[in-house]
Amino acid sequence: MKTGFAFSLLAAACACAAFGTEVVTSPDGRLAVAVDDEGGSPAYTVTLGGETVLARSPLGLVTDFGDFSRGLTLAGATRRAVEETYDLATIKRRSVAVKASRLTVDFTNATGRLSVTFHVSDHDLAFRYTLPRQKGRGAVRVLREATGFSFPEGTTGFLTPQAVPMTGWKRTKPSYEEDYVLDRPLPVARANGNGWTFPALFRTGERWVLLGETGTDGSYCGCRLDEFDGRTTRIAFPLPEENNGSGSVEPAFALPGSTPWRTITVGGLKEVVETTVAWDVVAPKYPARPCDYGRNTWSWIVWQDESINWDDQVAYIDFAAAMGWEGVLVDAFWDRDIGYPKMEKLIAYAASKGVGVWLWYSSSGWWNDIEQSPVNVMSDPIRRKQDMRWMQRLGVKGVKVDFWGGDKQETMRLYEQVLSDADDHGLMVIFHGCTIPRGWERMYPNYVGSEAVLASENRYFSPRFCAVAGVNAALHPFIRNSLGAMEYGGTFLNERMSRDNRSRHARGTTVAFELATAVLFQNPVQNFALTPNNLTDAPAAAIDFMKAVPTTWDETRFLAGYPGRSVALARRKGGRWYLAAVAAEKTVLTLDLSFCGRGVRTVTLDANDGWVDVVGR
Ligand code: CA
Repeated sequence: MKTGFAFSLLAAACACAAFGTEVVTSPDGRLAVAVDDEGGSPAYTVTLGGETVLARSPLGLVTDFGDFSRGLTLAGATRRAVEETYDLATIKRRSVAVKASRLTVDFTNATGRLSVTFHVSDHDLAFRYTLPRQKGRGAVRVLREATGFSFPEGTTGFLTPQAVPMTGWKRTKPSYEEDYVLDRPLPVARANGNGWTFPALFRTGERWVLLGETGTDGSYCGCRLDEFDGRTTRIAFPLPEENNGSGSVEPAFALPGSTPWRTITVGGLKEVVETTVAWDVVAPKYPARPCDYGRNTWSWIVWQDESINWDDQVAYIDFAAAMGWEGVLVDAFWDRDIGYPKMEKLIAYAASKGVGVWLWYSSSGWWNDIEQSPVNVMSDPIRRKQDMRWMQRLGVKGVKVDFWGGDKQETMRLYEQVLSDADDHGLMVIFHGCTIPRGWERMYPNYVGSEAVLASENRYFSPRFCAVAGVNAALHPFIRNSLGAMEYGGTFLNERMSRDNRSRHARGTTVAFELATAVLFQNPVQNFALTPNNLTDAPAAAIDFMKAVPTTWDETRFLAGYPGRSVALARRKGGRWYLAAVAAEKTVLTLDLSFCGRGVRTVTLDANDGWVDVVGR
């Protein structure tokens, strides 16, 4: 069957024009990619079971020493099979078996040679470019990419716009915290005029496509998707205004060298939720050390800046100990309002209670207007290492580094430098006010997770986000959290968004919704939004659930749902299944729980309502 399909596609291509075509199919033969050089412009076409997933879509790079998007001839191809298993504690499943077909196609023109490597598993496609050393060139600057994604007629998009740089609170954007547009027919009308961010989800009839980017390190920038031209969107580079206008938007790397991978997950919603493609095609950059993940208390989310003082932090350390949780996150201004000397005593106090400490830092100070401190430490290699040595001596578990400047290559280098130095000092790293991770869970073993989402703080700040909590919760497992750990900081048990639990706006969700998000939102360290008073004013069953809930998972299964409306997942830890569902609207979910011996179950939910169950022991 599979060779028959490949040959028929090839025959069709060869019959109509004299251009080169190579076809690669997935191990099960259903997902196929045809690559051609028609008209001198390289392109790829993706089909699943013979149906078009992506129409002929452009490939190519324009560089400082020549144009690799035109006048190209398909000059050769090599193939190999990939079979690999890897273990990764920090993603949706602990052990992953990768089985894929790889095809590398070489294109040549007067400028030289460009290779494109395709990795095709049964439900995922990833591809990247490689340039050799050529024409005396040992380095390349990429001026733009031709790379695009052309969707068939009838496709709709579930998208979040790229922010306008240097806008928002203290000019901290972009930080991947924009509202989504849902199920909009292509071309989706421009929002900010800056296109759309990864990951991006698309639906064509019953078939779903999730676009992502992975393998990005200090040798490239973080990319976005440009505004639609018809039903085509292309890879675009960061905006010049990012980083307060400093730094190039054009990435440069040494030759031979490769770009990041672009990923295309294809299938039903099950395949979209369960994909591991972001980690399948990347490799660890340094050996993993043992990391103690787990649950943290976090005063800032409800008690805010005023809580970063000795007494309130002691209260949150005691609260972590009472919950049996592993840590406490001390947020901004600890250097000013507690001070380095007294922090040493606080960290020792936490250790005496069996509670580890995480410390907040600003990423810098020079690309936005924030006052939150410590500032100008993480961007300065000398001060960064001084503070990391201090933290290592005190046994601090990790840092949360906030308010990043954008997606330019120099910022990707800073992400990598912070991760690398932190690893040298036995520290884990959480990013906030930041870009999406791009395979970083596997590439940097001490990386934990990134915000890059309209996270819990927005529910604290505004009732508008409480009203749509169900919509957002029913999006993340399909989009943002499917391709990367998501540092959301959720699960409120206060009825109102205030320290006294009586003033300000209501939470607007059921207790079951809040518990469900502790399972649905995946991050190997969870900074939960519970407050010390919840020990006595929240339902005892909810506290018991939160005392036991894990933060790392052996397996994840999609059960039911539709992006933006509802979602139900099962996550396994050892012999125990955590079942969780949330809904944005009145919903009846029929869940096949036969895999954990519970048969078929119907769950009825209201808007902003949820459901949890624990099966096994
Ligand atoms: Ca934020």
